[in-house]
Amino acid sequence: MTEYLDPFKISQTQLAEACKIKGYDNEIYEALSQPERFIEIKITLKMDNGHLKTFKGFRSQYNSARGPMKGGIRWHPEESGSLVKALSAWMTWKTACVDIPLGGAKGGIICNPKGMSERELETLARSYIRQLADFIGPNIDVPAPDVYTNPQIMAWMMDEYETIVRRHAPSVITGKPLPIGGSAGRAIATAKGGVFCIREAAKDIGLNLKGAPVAIQGYGNAGSWAAKLLKDDFDCKIIAVSDSKGGICNLDGIDPYKAADHKEKTGTVVGLDGTKKITNEELLELECDILVPAALENVITKKNASQIKTKIIAELANGPTTPQADNILHNNNVLMIPDFLCNAGGVTVSYFEMVQGYYRYFWTEEEVFVALDRIMTNAYRSTVEHAEQVNTHNRMGAYMVSIDRVIEAMQLRGWI
Ligand code: GLU
Repeated sequence: MTEYLDPFKISQTQLAEACKIKGYDNEIYEALSQPERFIEIKITLKMDNGHLKTFKGFRSQYNSARGPMKGGIRWHPEESGSLVKALSAWMTWKTACVDIPLGGAKGGIICNPKGMSERELETLARSYIRQLADFIGPNIDVPAPDVYTNPQIMAWMMDEYETIVRRHAPSVITGKPLPIGGSAGRAIATAKGGVFCIREAAKDIGLNLKGAPVAIQGYGNAGSWAAKLLKDDFDCKIIAVSDSKGGICNLDGIDPYKAADHKEKTGTVVGLDGTKKITNEELLELECDILVPAALENVITKKNASQIKTKIIAELANGPTTPQADNILHNNNVLMIPDFLCNAGGVTVSYFEMVQGYYRYFWTEEEVFVALDRIMTNAYRSTVEHAEQVNTHNRMGAYMVSIDRVIEAMQLRGWI
């Protein structure tokens, strides 16, 4: 393993490269390369079996120059402080890239929610908020769902926060269920935003999306919705999907709804009728037009980047590609839609959810998606323009757009 596989170092490597391209000196890099505040907490729970279990949790508040900080909470056995810091940096560049008035943050708990009861999950959610209540708030830092957290968990968290502050504060958290202040379209927003970017990328390279073969790694919220939207809106052909237990392939096409039902019933897409089992690694190397990494970080590295045979990579996951792999893919003419652009639909609709929560007036799903399309298309266009100006890949293009905006806000405030 090289040091590049540490996610926070990866984020710093990317930032350093972007600063170099933009001509920012080391003082600016230093001012941007660490979170404003990093909080580590301990939570002890009484488990259903009567034993105590102690968990470690984090919140990294990376940058607040452009507005209240924003970012999801991950519950995962492999969570780490480094990962949470990296993800909080990427949230900062994400909100800046789509130009919404928010900063960046991220949280996490090292745990395995799949093995916990409903009561244990609720207690964990409420305890996390009790530990962090002084450091979050609608005008400070606004959490949201991410890997293995969901609207129900957001509902418990909002309720705990409101109990502490003794007033309604729906904009303290986003990704809530609709009846208690969620936004129409939030559940599919990450995939929807990515699909708007794919539509623009296909236009740029003259790719006809009808029948275009698509491989998707990860069949959680983002991956499964991407499959359904690409099929329903553009008639793409989904040839492979996967989850943490493995992948399935059928070159004639997989019905994304049947794959979702099968996963719902059995816990995995593997074993769906009419499909052949493949590994997650094999999925990434399939010949296709669109490859969608929608699972975890560090899956496209210098080891497999040259084996990738796709025209477009649409990163719905955060951090799936290492910097060395980016260069290899760029040299091989693979069009990259980088994570903090491609998956920004989620936080953009979270921002709409905050706005709707503030004035307690809710939009239709159509209104949400029209506004989302405008924001995603503008962000995609600015990214591509900046990348083309200096003949670099789109991840650097997105960094160039984002860091300029964050630096400008920091300068206007007199921080730098
Ligand atoms: N967790 C999502 C992300 O990584 C959404 C964050 C949010 O809605 O605040 O973008």
